[in-house]
Amino acid sequence: MLSRHAGRHAGLSSSRAAVSLARRQLAFAQSRQLFTKILKSSQQPRNPLRRPWKFLALQHVSKRQLSGKPLPQRSSRLLNFAYRTAAWVGSSVLFVGVGIIAFFLYDASTYKTEGVQTDIAVPQMALNPRRGGPKNLPILEVYLDDDDSEEMRRQKNKPKLVILGGGWGSVALLKELNPDDYHVTVVSPTNYFLFTPMLPSATVGTLELKSLVEPIRRIVRRVRGHFVRASAEDVDFSSRLVEVSQRNWRGEEERFYIPYDKLVIGVGSVTNPHGVKGLENCHFLKHINDARKIRNKVIQNLELACLPTTTDEERKRLLSFVISGGGPTGVEFAAELFDLLNEDLTKHFPRLLRNEVSVHIIQSRSHILNTYDEAVSKYAEERFARDQVQVLTNSRVSEVRPDTIVFTQKDENGKIVAKELPMGFCLWSTGVAQTAFCQRLAKKLGDAQTNKRALETDTYLRLNGTPLGDVYAIGDCATVQNNVADHIVSFVRSLAWKHGKDPEKLELHFSDWRNVAEQVKRRFPQAVGHLKRLDKLFAQYDKDQSGTLNFDELRELLKQIDNKLTSLPSTAQRAHQQGKYLAHKFNKLARAAPGLKANDIIEGDLDAAVYKAFEYRHLGSLAYIGNSAVFDLGQGWNWAGGLWAVYAWRSVYFAQSVSLRTRILLMVDWAKRGLFGRDLIAY
Ligand code: FAD
Ligand code: MG
Repeated sequence: MLSRHAGRHAGLSSSRAAVSLARRQLAFAQSRQLFTKILKSSQQPRNPLRRPWKFLALQHVSKRQLSGKPLPQRSSRLLNFAYRTAAWVGSSVLFVGVGIIAFFLYDASTYKTEGVQTDIAVPQMALNPRRGGPKNLPILEVYLDDDDSEEMRRQKNKPKLVILGGGWGSVALLKELNPDDYHVTVVSPTNYFLFTPMLPSATVGTLELKSLVEPIRRIVRRVRGHFVRASAEDVDFSSRLVEVSQRNWRGEEERFYIPYDKLVIGVGSVTNPHGVKGLENCHFLKHINDARKIRNKVIQNLELACLPTTTDEERKRLLSFVISGGGPTGVEFAAELFDLLNEDLTKHFPRLLRNEVSVHIIQSRSHILNTYDEAVSKYAEERFARDQVQVLTNSRVSEVRPDTIVFTQKDENGKIVAKELPMGFCLWSTGVAQTAFCQRLAKKLGDAQTNKRALETDTYLRLNGTPLGDVYAIGDCATVQNNVADHIVSFVRSLAWKHGKDPEKLELHFSDWRNVAEQVKRRFPQAVGHLKRLDKLFAQYDKDQSGTLNFDELRELLKQIDNKLTSLPSTAQRAHQQGKYLAHKFNKLARAAPGLKANDIIEGDLDAAVYKAFEYRHLGSLAYIGNSAVFDLGQGWNWAGGLWAVYAWRSVYFAQSVSLRTRILLMVDWAKRGLFGRDLIAY
C-alpha cells in the first residue's frame, strides 16, 4: 500500500517534474525567440531618414566594436578630455584642409589661359563722335561699351543719368538705383570711392590705403553704367550738356561734352584756406595721396631726428607736429599720431625721441569738437591733456612758414597775443569750401544762387535756377535752402489771387493755418519739429488777438521758423542720405513715367507729384580720440569710453564699409596692427 502509495506518489512527482521541465523549456524557447527577434530587429537596416542621430550612433558603436579598440572609460575624465580634444583638433584640421583645397580649386578656376578675342561691333558714333554744343566740342552720345551685352544694348535708349563725382553721395545713389531704368554715366577725376572717415588711420599705417578705396567701375557695374575719368568744367543747362576735361597721353588738355537728361552734381568740396599765407608748407587730408604724403613725412622726420648730424634744437623742431583745426578730422589725426608715437615709436626708435615729441592742436573756437555735445568735447580735451597733446584754443593761424607756424591767441582777459611755434609738420584741416566748378555754376545761375559756400537746392534737391527736374546737387557741394517764409507766403499769395481775394487783406482762421502748416511740413520736413503746437503758435502770432492771422502775422510766424532751421552738416552721413533719397525718387519717377507720358504730363513739378521732400535724419556723430572714442547721438545723448568704445566705433565703420572686399581688408589691417604693429616705412 505504502509502496503503491509511494509508487503513486513517485508517479505523481515524476509527472509534476515533467510538467515543470516542459514549462521551463517553453519559457526558454519563448525567451530565445524574443531574444532572436530583438537581435534581428537591431540588425535590420532602419530608415536613416527617420532617426538619423540613432542611426549614426549605432553605426559608430558597431564600427568602434569592429575596430577592437576599447571605448574610453567614462570614469576616466582625463582620457575623455584628451579624446574629445583630439577629435576637435582632428575635425578642425580636416575642416581647414578642405577649406584650403576648395579655395585653391576656386583660385585655379579664375585663371584664364586662352585670350578671349572675338569680333566686336563698335558703333561708329563712339569712334568718331559728332561735334556740337556752344563750343563745338565732341559730344559723347554713344559709348564704346554700349553694345557689350544684351542688357547694355537695351539700356542704350533709356534716359541719360549723368553723375558728377564718385564720392559718398554718388555711391549711395548708385547702390540703390534700379539697374534697368537709366543709362548711367559717372564722371570723376578719381576712379575710386574713398572711405573718408577712416582716412586719418591710413596716415600712420594703422590701416592700409587700399583698404579704404573701392574701384568706382566695380560699383558702376551694378547698374551696367559707364565711367569717364575726367573733371566737370561747366554745364550748359539749356542744351543739357556737361563740359568735361581730361589730359591726353601728351599731357595736353582735351575737352568734350557729355549729354544728360538728368544730372546729379556730387563733386564734394575743397579744403578751406581761410586766406592764410604759406599753406604750401602744410599737408592736407582729403585724398588718398594726402594720407600717403603725411605718412612719408612723419616717418622721414623720425628718421632725420635719429641722425648724428641733427642738432638738439633741430630734433625738437622735427618732432613738433602741429594740427591746425580742432574738428573731427584734426582730432582724429592727432589721436592716430599719438597712437603711433606711443605704441610703435618706443619699440623701434631711440627712447630719447619719445621725450622730444610734441603734438599741438590749434583751434579757433573755445573747444575742440565744437559741433559735438559739450560733454563730449570736454572728454576729448581731458583725454588729450592726459596724453600730453597740447590743445591751443581761441587761436587763429595767420601764417605758415617752412619751419614755424605763426598764430594769435586770445588770453583769459580777451587780449590777443601773437605767438610762434617751431614745427616739423603741419596738417591744415579747417573746414571746407566750394570747388572752382561749383563757383562757376553758382555765378552762371546768378540770383538763384546766393550762398557763397555751396550750391543751393530746394527740398527736392533740385538745383535752384535750373529747369525743374533736370539738375540735382547732393553732398558737400550742396545746401538745402529752407526759405519757408518766402515759399509759403508766395504760395498763399497765389492761392488768394486764384480765389479772387487780395492777399494783403487775407485773414486765416485756425483751420486755414492748420492747412498751411501741413503744406509747410510736406515741403520742409526739417521744420516738422518746430510745428508741433500749432495752437500755441497761432495764439502767439495773432498779435491783435482777432482770432485770425493776417498776412503780416503769418509772414512773421514763418520767418521765426526759418531762423530756427540750421543748414545741414557737411558729412558723409548727409551725402549718403541724399544719394539714397535721389535713387529712390529716380526709381519711382521711372516707374511713373509711362503713366505720366500717357496723360501728357511731361512738364511741371513731377518730383513733388511722385515723391516726398528730402528729410535729413541725424544718426549721431562719432570720433576716435586715441584708444578711446566718443559718440554724440544728439539731443543730449552721448557717451565716451575706452577700448570697448573703440571697438564699437570700428564696428560702425566696418558695417558702413562699401564692400566685402574692403571689410576683409579692414579686418586684416586691424589684426596686423595688433600682431606686428604699424609699418614704419616711407615710400
Ligand atoms: P566726396 O565724397 O568728397 O566726393 C567728391 C567726388 O567728386 C570725388 O570722387 C571727386 O573726385 C569728385 N570730383 C571732384 N571734382 C570733380 C569735378 N570737377 N568733376 C567730377 N568729379 C569731381 N563725414 C562723416 O560723416 N563722418 C566722418 O567720420 C567723416 N570723417 C572725415 C574724415 C576726413 C579725413 C575727411 C576729409 C572727411 C570726413 N567726413 C566725414 C566728411 C565726408 O567725407 C564728406 O562729407 C563726404 O565725403 C561728402 O560726400 P560727397 O559725395 O559730397 O563728396
Ligand atoms: Mg490777428
